[in-house]
Amino acid sequence: MSNKDMPYLEEKSTNNVTGLSFEQGPIRPPNEARSLLLRITRNCPWNQCLFCPVYKKKKFSLRTVEEVKKDIQTARDIADDIKALSWKMGVSGLITDPIISHIISNNNYSYSYKSVALWLYYGTGECFLQDADNFIIKTRDFVDILKFLREKFPDLKRVTTYSRSRTISRKSLAEMKDIKEAGLDRVHIGLESGYDPLLKLIKKGVTAAQHIDAGKKVIEAGMSLSEYIMPGLGGEAMWKEHAVETARVLSEINPHYIRLRSLRIPTHIPLYQKIKNGEFKMLTDDQVVEEIKIFIESLDNNITSTITSDHIMNLLEEIRGKLPEERDTMLHVIKKYQDMPESERIIYRIGRRGGAFSSTDNLYRDQITYNKIKGLVSELSAKGPDEIERFMNEMADQYI
Ligand code: SF4
Repeated sequence: MSNKDMPYLEEKSTNNVTGLSFEQGPIRPPNEARSLLLRITRNCPWNQCLFCPVYKKKKFSLRTVEEVKKDIQTARDIADDIKALSWKMGVSGLITDPIISHIISNNNYSYSYKSVALWLYYGTGECFLQDADNFIIKTRDFVDILKFLREKFPDLKRVTTYSRSRTISRKSLAEMKDIKEAGLDRVHIGLESGYDPLLKLIKKGVTAAQHIDAGKKVIEAGMSLSEYIMPGLGGEAMWKEHAVETARVLSEINPHYIRLRSLRIPTHIPLYQKIKNGEFKMLTDDQVVEEIKIFIESLDNNITSTITSDHIMNLLEEIRGKLPEERDTMLHVIKKYQDMPESERIIYRIGRRGGAFSSTDNLYRDQITYNKIKGLVSELSAKGPDEIERFMNEMADQYI
């Protein structure tokens, strides 16, 4: 559809709002892909974790409350402009396919304008506050920002953010409750592991005890808690302790969500140096699957968390379910993979890394894809014994 067919769009594309912008950070959790993204601090104040490439070489800074409020106001102005356009188009405030395609494909609209338009189009009503550790903001400033956000966007269904356990453990419960009261619904924490020697090795800058303290505090303050763990992080030397101790720590916290995000180490990640000098040995995909099995088996029977595996780096996305009732279902997914012949596991792994499969159930669904990958496996193995693994690692690392 062209602007000629949509005169109101033509008219709107020249106003002052379409070029407005506000700051957004580089990442958000996978399940916040359709949330409104607003950056309230820049980068990571810790920035030392050896497995994390996200903010390296970038300096942390707080943003002033005024700056953040200005951004929130800009997002509001953009949202109002898009809604007004929709009313003019006679679709009662709805963001329809023609409206969204026009905005996305038109260079007159800023990146921020497009992101608010997409957010309205998806209609999640959810907002994620970036970057890595927002509980570092003074409580009264954080409360001020949240109240302003809720005032400007009264229909928000959920507001969430990232933070570090160590930072949260320094806040009092009363402060946490004030933050919840002001409008923060959920905190995403990168727990990674519950095993202290491993937390030290990867320079997480937090102990298992601090993870437990922070997690319990988030829940006690009335917020929802999402803990990320990193299968594979223990490497060959610590994989079992990593699985068992992480399960112990999470059993004590009992978070609402446990999210799996498997380790990948392309060459630009600091941990790669330890691989190079022989200090760290990566697990194979199959060993990671075994580690996840032991982790799930080691979780306490009373835990009521939901496990999700929604990260592209995970081999088995279908490991998901509510504990305790779906523990066996999740273990069955693992057993099904482990029972496959090695040749089939290789086909699945290549297809998964290349985006063809999201579940082992997809393996035989499309015979053409299956045969193509099978042919590729033959070609790779003819080139040399390590070619298949090299190829798979290359594909998996492209997401980092
Ligand atoms: S705290 Fe989070 S963002 Fe910061 S370095 Fe560690 S993993 Fe990366």
